[in-house]
Amino acid sequence: MKKFTFLIMAIALMACNSNQTTSKTPSIEDFDYTVDKFEDIEILRYRVPDFETLTLQQKTLVYYLNQAALEGRDILYDQNGAYNLLIRRIFESVYENYEGDRESADFQNVTTYLKQIWMGNGIYHHYGSDKFTPKFSFQYLTEILKTIPAEKLPLAEGETIDKLPSAIWRIIFDPAILAKRVNQAEGEDLILTSAENYYGKGITQQEVEDFYNNLKDTSDTQPVAYGLNSKLVKENGVLTEKTYKIGGLYSAAIERIVFWLEKAATVAENDAQKDVILSLIEFYKTGSLVTYDQYAIKWVADVNSLIDFVNGFTESYGDPLGMKGSWESIVNFKNLEATKRTAIISQNAQWFESNSPVAQEYKKDKVKGISAKVITATILAGDCYPSTPIGINLPNSNWIRAEHGSKSVTIENITEAYDRASLGNGFTQEFYWSDTECELVKNFGTLTDNLHTDLHECLGHASGKLLPGVDQDALKAYGSTIEEARADLFGLYYLADKKMLELGLIPDANAYKAEYYKYITNGLMTQLTRILPGKNIEEAHMRNRSLIARWCYEKGKANNVIEFRVREGETFVVVNNYEKLRTLFGELLAEIQRIKSTGDFDAGKALVENYGVKVDAALHTEILSRYKKLNIAPYKGFVNPVYSAVTNKEGKITDITIDYSENYVEQNLRYSKQYSVLGK
Ligand code: ZN
Repeated sequence: MKKFTFLIMAIALMACNSNQTTSKTPSIEDFDYTVDKFEDIEILRYRVPDFETLTLQQKTLVYYLNQAALEGRDILYDQNGAYNLLIRRIFESVYENYEGDRESADFQNVTTYLKQIWMGNGIYHHYGSDKFTPKFSFQYLTEILKTIPAEKLPLAEGETIDKLPSAIWRIIFDPAILAKRVNQAEGEDLILTSAENYYGKGITQQEVEDFYNNLKDTSDTQPVAYGLNSKLVKENGVLTEKTYKIGGLYSAAIERIVFWLEKAATVAENDAQKDVILSLIEFYKTGSLVTYDQYAIKWVADVNSLIDFVNGFTESYGDPLGMKGSWESIVNFKNLEATKRTAIISQNAQWFESNSPVAQEYKKDKVKGISAKVITATILAGDCYPSTPIGINLPNSNWIRAEHGSKSVTIENITEAYDRASLGNGFTQEFYWSDTECELVKNFGTLTDNLHTDLHECLGHASGKLLPGVDQDALKAYGSTIEEARADLFGLYYLADKKMLELGLIPDANAYKAEYYKYITNGLMTQLTRILPGKNIEEAHMRNRSLIARWCYEKGKANNVIEFRVREGETFVVVNNYEKLRTLFGELLAEIQRIKSTGDFDAGKALVENYGVKVDAALHTEILSRYKKLNIAPYKGFVNPVYSAVTNKEGKITDITIDYSENYVEQNLRYSKQYSVLGK
């Protein structure tokens, strides 16, 4: 999906031929995190702290990997829908060339639609996957299109706009046509009713399932990820895979990715990392999923390099059947200071396990903390842009995870941007009881939130054991909620432990209260902002937070540990006794571990159904209306910094500079010119 010739790439590399040196990262206080806002989206920017401390070789490696990341952008657009690239190009052309009234409401609506397309990497919402509804008419669009010179539109030479496929207009304006990118409604043909572009026209779900069931060998203990890197099409009545590779589907973009990866391999930090990059190149050249697994195994084993990356067909949320990998990339380097934090936690894993309030028979005799690292992202691309995860755990192959492990990362410069951008939005002032709670969360909220995540990931999920003979799926549909509650409670319990002070992980004995207040208020109240009126809580993490908060509220009632207070008709949560709350977390942790260890389905079900699912309708209505008046965009996207290679007279790179000033529109228009070779 990226378009650019190799010639232009060479120019881009040489363009910044000055003596400027990499500047210091702007401080948190001086940084402007907010970039843009439209519909339900807010666009933020993020800092890349300590980039200037990398060596020239490391910076150059980051630069090449970043370029390889940006080259895949159009692949995702095409995977998300067969008409996305064409529609994006039409609207970009209108945006750049329309000379009429740009301030009119109609044109503003055209601009918003284009911003939505960039956010969704196509004409569907990145999260809900529903098609965007234009707030301008077909008639208006046709009128302004007529004013754009034909050579500026995505047309072949000599063609006029009536050459554009007529289906395009119906796809944009008729809500019934290709309505949803990924349809998950039970009972419907999920392939025929989804608009994603992983399957050719007219192919049924049954045909897809039969095709892949035939490929699979059920006795294979190391199965490849069938279908991951291909589009399934029907040719002359026969189903066949079009593989994403050099010489195959998306070849032009993949060639560009490989071009930069080959450069990256020349400046790798060590042989292991070089081998990882070369294996990925091999995969892109052959399309072989066996090679892909070999690459993944090497990637998991490389834990010593400072710089790391994801680049490829990775997650399968965009395929209703969960097989096809959407293209994504993220480049990063280890946050050494914060990774010390996770290392300390992992090294002390046994102490935490031995001292937990869980009954002895459910504890692990020998616990090994999961090695996790905290990273600083340098670029977000493909399915990680503009919307991005704050943590990643890969690879997805089950047998590789079991035999070789996985890498778990927290992307701290992204969480920083989320946190800082939310400071001024009025949320805490609206929902937190008093200045005391607001100050507590302002001072210690980010730190304790990160620590809670570390404890959850490194220790919580790794703690405890099943009694012999207990089926690991015994809790069935309640299993994931119980598992998340277990990990959360482990973290909550220990946040308040003096061991945290001893280990130097927490600066103040009261810091934990920030997370406690935030967690309980969220579980009892504020997470309801994400539930539609009349609905129950369905998502496992949200159920778990409700379960913990409401259980502690009920059990602490006699001692007034947690209280709902009403002030001028508005409800607030007040925590009256933090020490007692910690005891309650410990008690619930012990019970949840017992449920897990013994596979006590009935007790697990009762906890989840009684405390995790139902919503107090009156409170829900109140929270939704208070939230609405804050006018906070529920979804965030990001712009990337701009990296430039500084070269000397001989064309040798002497520095990589980083600039944060590009806005959302500038960035996407530039990407569409610089990294766009598909479908032209
Ligand atoms: Zn978890």
